[in-house]
Amino acid sequence: MAGERIVGGCQCEGLRFELKARPLFAHACHCLDCRRRSGTAFGLKATVLRDDLAITTGELTAKQTSPRTTVRQCAACATTIYSESIRFPSTYLVAGGTFDDASFVVPGAHLWVKRKHPWVVLPDRVPQFDEDGDIHAIWPRSARERLEAANRALSGDQE
Ligand SMILES: [Zn+2]
Ligand SMILES: [Zn+2]
Repeated sequence: MAGERIVGGCQCEGLRFELKARPLFAHACHCLDCRRRSGTAFGLKATVLRDDLAITTGELTAKQTSPRTTVRQCAACATTIYSESIRFPSTYLVAGGTFDDASFVVPGAHLWVKRKHPWVVLPDRVPQFDEDGDIHAIWPRSARERLEAANRALSGDQE
């Protein structure tokens, strides 16, 4: 998708966003939290650098869902657009279904597979973790380098 704009938005179309670069990684999570929050069988998340995400139209609201996690939703229709954690100050987890063309949001890892529904059949070649896993370790090197550069810039800002 070189040269193509990566855009997406909420269900009412009042909130639109654009990504300046491809996500670093995508993963699926089968934990109960992700199932409940998404209202479906698993959560699908694309990790993006915060600097790469621009809200082009509309307004977000913030809902704190745990001491460390805040979910950002369209203020009009409450579609979840992304979540952010104070543990990961340079990235957001964008809800995989919000991209207009989500065909590139292919999970590179499956988390909490021990909670997965038996009818969800996973491809053998994709790494699976029984619970949370260190998925950074299996990210492509280019993605890890982009993350490290963003983290370095962030700690530089704070000094
Ligand atoms: Zn909306
Ligand atoms: Zn989860």
